[in-house]
Amino acid sequence: MRLNELTIKQAGDGLKKKEFSSVEITKACFEQIEKTDDKIKSFITLTKDLALKQAKEADQAGDFSRPLAGVPAAIKDCFCTKGVKTTAASKILENYVPPFSATSVEKLEANNYVMLGKVNLDEFTMGSSTENSGFFPTKNPWDLSRVPGGSSGGSAAAVAADQCLYALGTDTGGSIREPASFCGLVGLKVTYGRVSRFGVLSYASSFDTIGPITKTVEDAALVLNAIAGADPKDSTTPPVAVPDYAADLKKDIKGLKIGVPKEFFVAGIDKEVEKTIKTAIAKLAELGAKIVDVSLPLTKYAIATYYILVKSEASANLARYDGVRFGFSARAENLLENYLQSRQTGFGQEVKRSIMMGTYTLSAGYYDAYYLKAAKVRTLIKQEYEKVFKKVDCLAAPAAPTMAFKLGEKMEDPLQMYLADIFTGPINIAGVPAISLPCGFALPQDGQIEMPVGLQLIGKHFDEATILRVAHNYEQATDWHKRKPIL
Ligand code: GLN
Repeated sequence: MRLNELTIKQAGDGLKKKEFSSVEITKACFEQIEKTDDKIKSFITLTKDLALKQAKEADQAGDFSRPLAGVPAAIKDCFCTKGVKTTAASKILENYVPPFSATSVEKLEANNYVMLGKVNLDEFTMGSSTENSGFFPTKNPWDLSRVPGGSSGGSAAAVAADQCLYALGTDTGGSIREPASFCGLVGLKVTYGRVSRFGVLSYASSFDTIGPITKTVEDAALVLNAIAGADPKDSTTPPVAVPDYAADLKKDIKGLKIGVPKEFFVAGIDKEVEKTIKTAIAKLAELGAKIVDVSLPLTKYAIATYYILVKSEASANLARYDGVRFGFSARAENLLENYLQSRQTGFGQEVKRSIMMGTYTLSAGYYDAYYLKAAKVRTLIKQEYEKVFKKVDCLAAPAAPTMAFKLGEKMEDPLQMYLADIFTGPINIAGVPAISLPCGFALPQDGQIEMPVGLQLIGKHFDEATILRVAHNYEQATDWHKRKPIL
């Protein structure tokens, strides 16, 4: 096995035993990037000098007791990284170099990690395919004619192509789970507030979460251990204790109650995806879990609720990009013209659509009918999840209604693109944690190459530990996570 193909756990074990060095793993990653990134296009910025410096430092320190020490990662380009260009894949921030780093990045640094570079996304994380990047689309390593999912498409593609050992992404409505599902990886969306959002460019502040995309469930637990916890710089991170998420993975799942919400198997779901998910659920039963049919009837309102709320928040969050304080400036004749022109040229289509939708749903006269109503439905959906979690320990469902779709397929129809979040958006409304993990491969109707399918496990508030345990048990009983794309 080449060093760039290792999991975090394998790399950590090898580093401890001095079988190889961090510099060697880091170089193997850059070799793979050089070999494959012309085709895949995961990276916006490579930080080779910095990476080799960090790797050398980790080797010199020689302390690999912390599992992430010396292990190379890719960071989604919406995480501020001190002194390293951070664009959110937007022209409006094309040359923005932040003077500080996100808390999650600082926490990885405190673990002596290695940053290979910054990876592509849908502009300001708005999208489900990475085609909304202001620079270029990223391709799915399993089939280059398909999208890697989004918005953390660069993160997922880089991990799937073994350009890095893991990546950080963000998930506001599915942006970690959908790309993980499309690329055959593990993607963890944490409880809202579990990981500090400080220093991550906002989409919808009351929905945004931060988490890892990894090759295995254990790796996801290891990254979560490093980044979770309260942060004085983010008042939405409560002082809930951070358990060792890797400690109880091996405990079996006998007698655990897993709910299957019938609303997640509706018209519109790909037949192959449905079949694969049902087989995976049968496997969970075989492993000793008790499968229970449950119902979440408000699910049908989730996408509408989600989009009204996130676009409202986005319109407010994006007001700061005024062409004066940072990023691109049109340098127009007068201030008003400068605002208008900077935003007109700096933002892409989906971002402008968001600002217009959100400004509309927040405006006097429409606020009550849209924003306020959606905010109330949000509470009802949350309550519905609280109720169902009185009966079950977690839920099992598909992560996405389809396998990775073709590039260009949904670009002309934003509503079709929004529907890619049909099974992930509701979870962000409820604020609970969820994980996507590979549970099989199937042939899409329009393809010749088998594509990965992702199983989604949904947990109670701040109970990442249970879904990680269920996921790990499933993973260890199957081989899906061992398959690699042919590059
Ligand atoms: N596709 C969804 C949206 O555009 C989700 C994106 C995300 O999770 N960041 O809102």
